[in-house]
Amino acid sequence: MEKPAIFGGDPVRKEKISYGKQWIDDDDVNAVAKILKGPFLTGGPTISKLEERLCEITGAKHAVVVSNGTAALHIACMALGIKEGDEVIVSAITFAASANCVLYCGGTPVFADIRPDTYNIDVEDVKRKITPRTKAIVAVDYTGQAVELDELLKICREKNIYLIEDGAHSIGTKYKGQPVGSWADITTFSFHPVKTVTCGEGGACMTNSEELYKKLKLLRSHGITRDMDEMVNKSDAGWYNEQVMLGYNYRITDFQAALLLSQLDKLKRFSDRRKEIRARYDAAFKDIPGIILQECIPESDTTWHLYVIRLDPDKLKCSRREFFDALVAEGICPQVHYLPVYRHSYYEKLGYKKGLCPVAEATYEQIMSIPFYPALTDEEIEDTIRAVKKIAEYYRK
Ligand SMILES: *Cc1c(COP(=O)(O)O)cnc(C)c1O
Repeated sequence: MEKPAIFGGDPVRKEKISYGKQWIDDDDVNAVAKILKGPFLTGGPTISKLEERLCEITGAKHAVVVSNGTAALHIACMALGIKEGDEVIVSAITFAASANCVLYCGGTPVFADIRPDTYNIDVEDVKRKITPRTKAIVAVDYTGQAVELDELLKICREKNIYLIEDGAHSIGTKYKGQPVGSWADITTFSFHPVKTVTCGEGGACMTNSEELYKKLKLLRSHGITRDMDEMVNKSDAGWYNEQVMLGYNYRITDFQAALLLSQLDKLKRFSDRRKEIRARYDAAFKDIPGIILQECIPESDTTWHLYVIRLDPDKLKCSRREFFDALVAEGICPQVHYLPVYRHSYYEKLGYKKGLCPVAEATYEQIMSIPFYPALTDEEIEDTIRAVKKIAEYYRK
């Protein structure tokens, strides 16, 4: 048996690879340069071009692009009127921003547990956590797989609750043949460099509601309007604009929009490559004792964002920490997605207690995300497989 690098053996890779990375081509660079040399760095026509493209891809009626995915979640909660006294049910295993957006508005995040197989929000637990104060659900398409949208929407319509789909991982995914972005009251995307398509920092809100669309647009830019219909003190004077609500500056620049438009041209290619890498990992890991694979959701035609492996403590005699450190020593740098949000010390100070979502807590202790992005070379994929096998064999019970 090969000795792991952490115990003095040879590492699988000398140059380390990380769990995620962007893919930028010359055509991306040229698209940005073209805007930089043009008249509009921000507030120009590339913004609405990008919004139209996002609507085309998702089938949503409206898009509002913003400076990042967190800003998108924030104005989504604001547009839905989340305020003090309101409860919002949030997936327990997600990036903190999915719950922070509720706090920004003075609302109370209520965490729902995840399913032990797919790691997406558990619809049964959502039902248990609904109270007369529940105003919305933030459901996260974890690793890119769509949440059970028809079930969640049914509950929302019955109980008069809004659905925000945090699609930071899932642009390009279809649920029952219909793209993510066209299902929920508001779907948010993130275009951070680790996500499927990127413009450095960026985000979007997708909605089919004209009313929500108007609010989201106002909130993106200070709450200031030039539309007379929206004004209280109506004036058609050329200089006149009016602030009608308290908004932010969450605008994105035209050169970022150009970068994202160029990236979206590659979405299909990225998605296909991600599927291909996933299939290779699945085939390699399914017979390794001690490695548990994430279940696929049959209704979700997924553009995968992360590849998560789970360690089986009954078959491995190492902790997750030991496995993680051993992989890093092999040159394969994983990451853990995520600590249950309420286990962050800030949330503990707010009064959230350990034990709230037992499946999320148990899952968190055993998972890690291994390198997974379209720019991975075949050699890097093989190295990653070899490293996981090597460590799992070494620690086998
Ligand atoms: C990345 C991410 C966000 C936040 O997006 P930013 O663009 O980084 O602000 C929100 N939710 C989830 C699930 C994410 O992965």
